Amino acid sequence: MAVQTVASTSPTDSPADSPAGSSGSAEPSLGAAVALSCRECGTRTALGPHFVCLECFGPLEVAYELPAGDPAGLRERIEAGPASMWRYAPLLPVPADVAAKPNLNPGFTPLVQADRLAAELGVTGGLYVKDDSGNPTHSFKDRPVAIALEAARAFGLTTLSCSSTGNLAGAVGAAASRAGLRSCVFIPDGLEQSKVVMAAVYGGDLVAIDGTYDDVNRFCSELIGDPLGEGWGFTNVNLRPFYAEGSKTLAYEICEQLGWRLPDQIVIPVASGCQLVKIDKGLRELIALGLVEEKPYRIFAAQAEGCAPVSRAFKDGSDVRPVKQPDTIAKSLAIGDPADGPYVIDICKRTGGAVDDVDDAQIVDSIRLLARTEGVFAETAGGVTLGVTRKLIASGALDPALSTVVLNTGDGLKTLDAVAPTARPSAVIAPSLAAFRDAGLA
Ligand SMILES: *Cc1c(COP(=O)(O)O)cnc(C)c1O
Ligand SMILES: [Zn+2]
Repeated sequence: MAVQTVASTSPTDSPADSPAGSSGSAEPSLGAAVALSCRECGTRTALGPHFVCLECFGPLEVAYELPAGDPAGLRERIEAGPASMWRYAPLLPVPADVAAKPNLNPGFTPLVQADRLAAELGVTGGLYVKDDSGNPTHSFKDRPVAIALEAARAFGLTTLSCSSTGNLAGAVGAAASRAGLRSCVFIPDGLEQSKVVMAAVYGGDLVAIDGTYDDVNRFCSELIGDPLGEGWGFTNVNLRPFYAEGSKTLAYEICEQLGWRLPDQIVIPVASGCQLVKIDKGLRELIALGLVEEKPYRIFAAQAEGCAPVSRAFKDGSDVRPVKQPDTIAKSLAIGDPADGPYVIDICKRTGGAVDDVDDAQIVDSIRLLARTEGVFAETAGGVTLGVTRKLIASGALDPALSTVVLNTGDGLKTLDAVAPTARPSAVIAPSLAAFRDAGLA
């Protein structure tokens, strides 16, 4: 790794004036990131707002020189860091001083030990809910966006943008406003009101497109190739290699919160599949760096029946075939043509996991079960994940005797309509003790 300049000499010595490391001073400073590398053929290119390999059109991802060799020291450094995802800055493509820059400082969310839910489901090996609903814009999307924001700053981009199923639009709008960048985000028309409001309230531009998420995403890809899109950073398109890395922090946090141990099983919701792929990458990095002891772990993927291209392909043993018209209350997962779908299947197979899906009624029932047993109110994506967990326990694919982490990736307040019909006052009464007695609730 290039030698980092520490401000220990004279205060007038700015790092920029210091002798540059091997990578040269003209390169944008993105911490341990050294290049972009193709996931398919391994071809490397310089760090920049690029997402496709020019050799084989495979997806690019960030390559690092990670701080290997002193796991105990690294663990200590992480534990002494801020109570946000920036405690893992040494393992991310971000400048060392990232925590001091204006950003939303997401992450380090609770890992809830879900004993009451475990009892209900018959899980004996330890059940945990990684609850990401408390992030600044109330979904896990603040994590990848925080990394994309640093990349946008490093590459001198001035407009932050995205194609979104709802949560990403809000996360981008908020992050751009905090950082003083312009934002212009794109969503399919007809999303939940709370997500539309959250995408608009931060003051950037919000454009609703008459079509599905996949139509919106195609439109954004066209915009990037056009002069109209010059200077734009699309978090999940041309900044996708950086954006994606944000989800590694979920893996880091889960392991640190388990006492620097790998869980046996993790259940993860899948839209594009990006999050799942990067959680696996994060776990493998922790093993490679010696931060956790190596042992087998299984990764399970959860989809909604009304948009389950990855689940279907996994069960049929076929290729991932796009779903043209997604139809599910889990709108944040409604990506019909998931970019990382094949990688999700590879990872679930490699680790001995599985992919499954549940219908809308099971999603609602699982939201209510989680709320009733653990006091955690999940958005529909969380209902999908818990619903699939229950299904996998019933089928025997998920071992209840092993430790299991279930992700809740968003806040129930974002998808109120899903539960509103079944979450009602127990009674409406006159303000008198007699009326309360008559209602039979005492
Ligand atoms: C976007 C999103 C997901 C899925 O993320 P991918 O990386 O696209 O698979 C899961 N849950 C919520 C709440 C989301 O907003
Ligand atoms: Zn390639």
